[in-house]
Amino acid sequence: MATDLRLPTDKIVRPDKDRFLNEDNPFEAMMSRFDRAAELLDLEPGLYKVLRHPEKQIVVSVPVLMDNGEVEVFTGYRVLYNTSRGPAKGGIRFDLNVTLEEVKALAAWMTWKCAVVNLPFGGSKGGVVCDPLKMSVGELERLTRRYTAGIISTLGPDSDVPAPDVNTNERVMAWVMDTYSMHVRHTVTAVVTGKPVEMGGSLGRREATGRGCMIVTKEALRHLKMPVPGTTVAVQGFGNVGSVAADLLVKEGCKIIAISDRTGGYHDPAGIDVRHAIEHVKKHRTLEGYLGGERITNEELLMLQVDVLLPAALENVITSKNASKVRAKVICEGANGPTSAAADAILEENGVFVIPDILANAGGVTVSYFEWVQDRGGYFWTEDVVNQRLTEIMCRSFADVLDLSRRHKVNMRTAAYMLSISRVATVHRLRGIYA
Ligand code: GLU
Repeated sequence: MATDLRLPTDKIVRPDKDRFLNEDNPFEAMMSRFDRAAELLDLEPGLYKVLRHPEKQIVVSVPVLMDNGEVEVFTGYRVLYNTSRGPAKGGIRFDLNVTLEEVKALAAWMTWKCAVVNLPFGGSKGGVVCDPLKMSVGELERLTRRYTAGIISTLGPDSDVPAPDVNTNERVMAWVMDTYSMHVRHTVTAVVTGKPVEMGGSLGRREATGRGCMIVTKEALRHLKMPVPGTTVAVQGFGNVGSVAADLLVKEGCKIIAISDRTGGYHDPAGIDVRHAIEHVKKHRTLEGYLGGERITNEELLMLQVDVLLPAALENVITSKNASKVRAKVICEGANGPTSAAADAILEENGVFVIPDILANAGGVTVSYFEWVQDRGGYFWTEDVVNQRLTEIMCRSFADVLDLSRRHKVNMRTAAYMLSISRVATVHRLRGIYA
């Protein structure tokens, strides 16, 4: 019989839900949403406590021999938030702003994200504090391999499966796969996803997060009875998510009127030539020097009068300070955590329809799941099959979340958390607590 996790003597001490302790702390941002959903679900106290804690947190020092002959020591993290539904799944980011709090939040978001689209995975995340744009290819390879060696005891196709995230890509995943395989003395393709197609990667994986954003944006427009052709869109972030989503939305007839990256933004009410911008970034790594449109700041981009705003860069760009100035009708969260918890309430009051990150950007991990399945089966699918299965999962998940939001009269974010937390909770109840 399943363990009863409802302990009568347990008292839940929940933070005051109207008080956001620290808007800049992504873990608190995640937790305040979790608390609200847990309350609505009437989650039993024992389980509530379990799900507020990451299962495992690893901190490693990563010594790297730099090109100038000196040794630098970087700090790396890997957090496994929850593995009740299956192997932990989540990307690795290389960024100067990486902190343990951020990696914990991102690992929790991966847990809810995998559950919201019903993948048989738990959630994890990794990060190394570094500035990859200032490092040579050789330095990045040594950093990746030493970091992988540092966290190798958690990695494995059945335990923890990394993927690309901010500033990491297929090449980095190839080094992770090779390092792991050298240690275990045989080739293990399924230990990592987002690999080059030539070595077990999946067709369509690179575009998957952006494609998923395009799919759910179309679903939201359909729900709101807004026509897709002619929809105006502003995209913040022009990396793997933003640029692909922009390109695919143009193919659907939308007009991208603004784009940006860390070097600033470009606004053209007549429509940005997205292909041209992608070519520019391929050549110059950033949008710096791009000649299509008037220069604007990243902050100004968020305030533009558009139908859809697609933040596809980093966390916490829409906060209590600027949320009231957002004029978009729909926000599709391509990034993880772009909206603070305090901003949620303001956007809701202003009638902005938010497609929450754990749903909006789940296309990437969904095709990561397809990649893992293909690697384990040793049988590879066509790109059409990948895209068709991705579309099915994204549309079904959007409908599931929308349905729950209507039934409970809550916004899409709370509904997405409720759906995923209830799925994770069900498995915990069935498995019980191992003593
Ligand atoms: N880094 C991506 C995310 O945040 C993909 C993770 C994965 O595929 O495991 O969803």
